Amino acid sequence: MNPEIRVFRCLEDNFGILVSLPGADAVIAIDAPDAAAIGAELDRAGWRLTHILVTHRHGDHIQGIPELKGRGGVEVIAARQAGDAVPADRRVAGGDRIAFGDIAFDVYDTPGHCADHISFHAPALKALFCGDVIFKLGCGRVMEGPYETLFASIRMLAALPDDTRVYGGHDYALSNARFAAAADPGNAAVKAALAQAEADREAGRLTAITTLAQEKRTNPFLRTGDPAVARAAGREGASEAEIFKALREWKNGFR
Ligand SMILES: [Zn+2]
Repeated sequence: MNPEIRVFRCLEDNFGILVSLPGADAVIAIDAPDAAAIGAELDRAGWRLTHILVTHRHGDHIQGIPELKGRGGVEVIAARQAGDAVPADRRVAGGDRIAFGDIAFDVYDTPGHCADHISFHAPALKALFCGDVIFKLGCGRVMEGPYETLFASIRMLAALPDDTRVYGGHDYALSNARFAAAADPGNAAVKAALAQAEADREAGRLTAITTLAQEKRTNPFLRTGDPAVARAAGREGASEAEIFKALREWKNGFR
C-alpha cells in the first residue's frame, strides 16, 4: 500500500492534513486544529492516528491535541523552542530527521510568523508541511519579527526542489490571489490562479495543494526579485528583504 495524504477543512479556514504511511504503520496529523474534524476523517479512512507533528504553538494548530491524544497511542512531536506552550512527547529542532520506516521528515526551523515555528519536509513524498509560513499565493503574517526573519525562512523552504508539493495551514487562496493580482499585475499565471481560486470558492472546493514551482510563478512573496513586483510595491531598486517587507505590510491592510 502506498502513502496517502488527505487534506480537508477544519474550523473556518484551517486545513486538516493526514499522512498515512502503511509501510511504517503510521498515520500522522500535521497540527491539530479541530479534533472532531480530524477524528471524523480518521474514522472515514479507517486509520489509527499514531503521531501529531506540530508546526507552531498558535491555538488553531494545537487545540485538538488533548482530545486526539485521548484516542490512545498518539505521540506528539513539537519544536524544542516551543517549550511548555505545546504539550509534546518528543522535541525536535531544525536539522533533525524524524523517521517513519523508510520515510523521513526533515525538520526546518522557520521562525518569523512565530518564533517557535518549524516545518517538515518529506523528500520521499515530495511534500512540505509548512504551517503558517507559505500559503498558496501568500505567506503568514509576521507576528514575531523582524520581517527579515520570515523572509529568510521562506527563502530557505523555496530552495527545496521545484516539484515539492506545499501544504500550508490555511485556505486563504482567494484573498491571497486578489492581492497577488495587485502586486504582480502583468502576470498571466497569477490571473489564471485568481480565476481558479474564484472557481474553487464558487464550487466549495478547497484550494489546497500547490507546488514550489507554481508558487515561484505566482506567489508575490517568492517573487521579490521580479522588477514588476518591486515596482508594484513601490520599492524599485530596494533589497529583496525590503521589498518583502513592503509587500507584507501592504497585504496586512489589503481588502
Ligand atoms: Zn499561526
